Amino acid sequence: DLWEARGAVTFTGVRFEYQSDRVILPTFDLAIPAGQTIALVGSTGAGKSTLAKLMARFYDPTDGQVLLDGVDLRRLHPKDLRRAIVMVTQEAYLFSGSVADNIAIGKPDASPAEIVAAARAVGAHEFIENLPGGYDTDVNKRGGRVSAGQRQLISFARAFLADPAVLILDEATSSLDIPSERLVQQALQTLLADRTAVIIAHRLSTVAIADRVLVMEHGIIVEDGAPDDL
Ligand code: ATP
Ligand code: MG
Repeated sequence: DLWEARGAVTFTGVRFEYQSDRVILPTFDLAIPAGQTIALVGSTGAGKSTLAKLMARFYDPTDGQVLLDGVDLRRLHPKDLRRAIVMVTQEAYLFSGSVADNIAIGKPDASPAEIVAAARAVGAHEFIENLPGGYDTDVNKRGGRVSAGQRQLISFARAFLADPAVLILDEATSSLDIPSERLVQQALQTLLADRTAVIIAHRLSTVAIADRVLVMEHGIIVEDGAPDDL
């Protein structure tokens, strides 16, 4: 009944421009096998977020096709697409509401046990339990204040619960303290297992755990290889 994506993503002859007078991504091809973890790096304005947004169909390409398991994203039912491909942006880490609501946003029918299991999986359960209201703590209320690292862990729990075939993550640039950094890196490894992932990476530690690194400059993928080769 429900369509299950495997998670292979292909860009064929894709070109993209926001406005007709300026090409942002000149024509390119890119094949991402199911299950691969990609770190996408490059200077500001290089086109990383644009590529990511095409992959999540926030935009359609000006020319060419973006395919999931060989199917053009434009041919997928929006529900299937949203379930199969999840993009976590820095801005979308948290919205106002309880921690539990924040974790369950991608799966509103999740049971409390499923929410706790997702939090445990990414190592977020312990700090959530220590918040004044536990899972019911309002993240925007006094006492419910959570650190940058904790916000990321909550958003990871959300993505883990949603369990998409393809996860796209725009990694936060903000620096974390060392314990948070370690927690976030461990959580990331758990989160990336058994799915296709593209991470717009700002940390060397993230690049190191990727199977493949793409370097972008001025809309062009100028390097494509294993982390060790770069
Ligand atoms: P950063 O590291 O700063 O996030 P990025 O690599 O993600 O940069 P993009 O956001 O993809 O870069 O931007 C690529 C180019 O597209 C830039 O020149 C940018 O100004 C332009 N651009 C991005 N979004 C839009 C938009 N909505 N309308 C018009 N131009 C845009
Ligand atoms: Mg960006």
